Amino acid sequence: MKAAIYPGHGQALEIHDVEDPSPSSTDIVIKVHRCGICGTDLHMTEGHTWQFPTNCIPGHEFAGEIVDIGAEVKGYKKGDLITALPSTGCGQCVACHAGNYVLCHHSPGVLGGFAEYMSIPSKVALKLPTHLNAADGALIEPLAVGLYGVRIAQLQKNDTVLIMGAGSVALCTAFWAKHMGAKKVVILSRSAWRQTMALNIGADAVVVQSDTTEAELNELFAGKADVVFECIGQPNQLMQAVNYARVLGKVVSLGFCTQADPIIPAIIGYKGVSLFFPVGYTLQDFKYAADTMDKGHVDPKIMITSTRPLDDIALAFSSLRQANQETKIHISPLL
Ligand SMILES: [Zn+2]
Ligand SMILES: [Zn+2]
Repeated sequence: MKAAIYPGHGQALEIHDVEDPSPSSTDIVIKVHRCGICGTDLHMTEGHTWQFPTNCIPGHEFAGEIVDIGAEVKGYKKGDLITALPSTGCGQCVACHAGNYVLCHHSPGVLGGFAEYMSIPSKVALKLPTHLNAADGALIEPLAVGLYGVRIAQLQKNDTVLIMGAGSVALCTAFWAKHMGAKKVVILSRSAWRQTMALNIGADAVVVQSDTTEAELNELFAGKADVVFECIGQPNQLMQAVNYARVLGKVVSLGFCTQADPIIPAIIGYKGVSLFFPVGYTLQDFKYAADTMDKGHVDPKIMITSTRPLDDIALAFSSLRQANQETKIHISPLL
C-alpha cells in the first residue's frame, strides 16, 4: 500500500510503498477514507526534541471502511465505517484505569491514518452512528479534544469563556462550551476570516487581535472571563491567557505547545488562577462526540477547507506551516 512516512529530523513526509497491514486476531483493518491534518502533526514533525518516531506513519484523525476483521472480533462487519482512539492502552496503568489511553506510557499509539490501509485494535474502535460519513468520522477526534478540555476544566453553566485562537480545536471547544451552557463564548482570533465559521459553530462573538483587544474583551465580559482556553499552541500564550482570566478563574492549555513557554508563578498565584493541561480523551468522549454530531447538534464539516489526495500530503503540510486560509485539511487516499 501507499503510505506517508516521517523520515525524522523535521524532514517532509514522503510517500512510500510499504507492506499492507497484517492484523492480529483482535484487530480490524480499514481502508482509510479520510484523515485530518492536526496541529499536533505539524508540531511533531518540526524536528523538536519531542517528535514522532523516525519512519512512522502519522495520522490520528482517521475514519474508513472495514475491509478485514480478526477472527476474535465481534460486532463489526465488512463495509462498516469506523474511527478509533489513536492509542491502545496497556489496560493496567493509572491512565488506562481513567480511560485516557492517550496518557498510557506503556503501549504504542494507533497512528497510521496517512496511508491507504491501517490496522486498528478492536477495543479502541468506534462504529460511526447511522447519519455520519467518513468526513464526519475523521472529525470526532478534534471534537473529542475540545470535549475533554471542557470536561477537565469543569466548565460551569453560565461561565463566561474566552478562547484564544480560531483553529479547529478552538472551534470545537467553542461548540462544547456553548453546548454545556456557557453564558458567553468569545473567540479571539488573529484575523477576521474565520468569523462566520466561528459564529456558525457556536461562538457568540469574535474579537480580532488589535491594540484595543483588552478593552473589547472587558466590555464583552463586563470584566474578565471565568475560563480562558489557550488553543494557539505557541510560546508566550500562557501568561497572556492568565492576564485575560478573572481572579480565581481558570486557564486551560489546549494548544499542545511543544516548546518552552515561560510563566511567572507568583503572578498566577497572586491572581488565584488554576491552570489545566488536558491531553487526550476517553472512548466515552468519542462516543458522545459522535452521538452529538449524529443528532445534528453540530456539523464540524464546516471546518474542512480542502480535501486532498495522499500524494499531496507534503505540500499540504508545508502550506499549513505558512500563512494560509485553511482550517482543517482532510487527506483522502481515495482521491
Ligand atoms: Zn488531532
Ligand atoms: Zn496503560
